[in-house]
Amino acid sequence: MNTKNWLGALALCSVTLCHALEVKFEPVAPGVYAHIGDLGGRSADNEGLNANIGLVLTPQGAVLIDSGATFQSARRIHEAVRAVTAQPVRWVINTGGQDHRWLGNGYFAAQGAEVIAHANAAPDMRSRGGDQLAALRGTLGDKAAGTVPTLATRWIDANDSRIELGGVVFELRHRGGGHTPGDMMVWLPQTQVLFTGDIVYVQRLLGVLPVSHTRRWLEAFAVIEALAPARIVPGHGRVTDLPAAQAHTRDYLRALRAHMAQAVNRGDDISAAIRGFDGRPFEHLLNAAELMPGNASRTYLEIERE
Ligand SMILES: [Zn+2]
Repeated sequence: MNTKNWLGALALCSVTLCHALEVKFEPVAPGVYAHIGDLGGRSADNEGLNANIGLVLTPQGAVLIDSGATFQSARRIHEAVRAVTAQPVRWVINTGGQDHRWLGNGYFAAQGAEVIAHANAAPDMRSRGGDQLAALRGTLGDKAAGTVPTLATRWIDANDSRIELGGVVFELRHRGGGHTPGDMMVWLPQTQVLFTGDIVYVQRLLGVLPVSHTRRWLEAFAVIEALAPARIVPGHGRVTDLPAAQAHTRDYLRALRAHMAQAVNRGDDISAAIRGFDGRPFEHLLNAAELMPGNASRTYLEIERE
């Protein structure tokens, strides 16, 4: 890590990473809030809640966008909701199959909430839920206690869906995957706010997982450009706008895919292709040094299959 990155990490540590989990919903638009999670990896301090969570108030109850990584962090999220509204959490929308999007479902289901996710998230959650929880237990110890992987009870089938919750319109957008197979964005047409889930990362580098699909990820990103949201709540990083989302997420995915497509066409082997990628324009993003090699290798393998 160079000095600049190290100082950046230290500054971040003093603000967030090295303190106990604090969940706080900040206003984004009238009746719309976001908790901005830690930018670093999962830790006992952040209880695995290193992701953003959304909250939308309706006349008939609160809607939570993602439920947190564990039963106990879900309870912390619920306390933070209560600081904003006396309404019950009646609905939870999962924007993807990563642990911090859905492993808090059990807590909110026990409170009577209906949990909504895209149907393409179901096989991903079923196959990875146990491993996700085991990994969290390893990192969090007792703080993962009480967590039971709990699937949605209402599945969205279409790419574009419009649902009403408590009299408020939620438009759901899915493009066959991205970071995870069930990635689904939540568009609020009244307030022009978009919750992207893990389709957008700002300030920190995105992660390409074995279940990720970078071509569809970019197709989902094009949906954001067509919507031209007033405000974007990314999956990770501060509330943002389209130019920042393009610079920190779209441009990296495009550069990675273009480089790997060339490498595969030339017949370069995977290690030469990874070494040859110029990641310097994205080095300033947090976690870049750790994530770049894995992202590069998974993108190479994806393009080889295309
Ligand atoms: Zn995430």
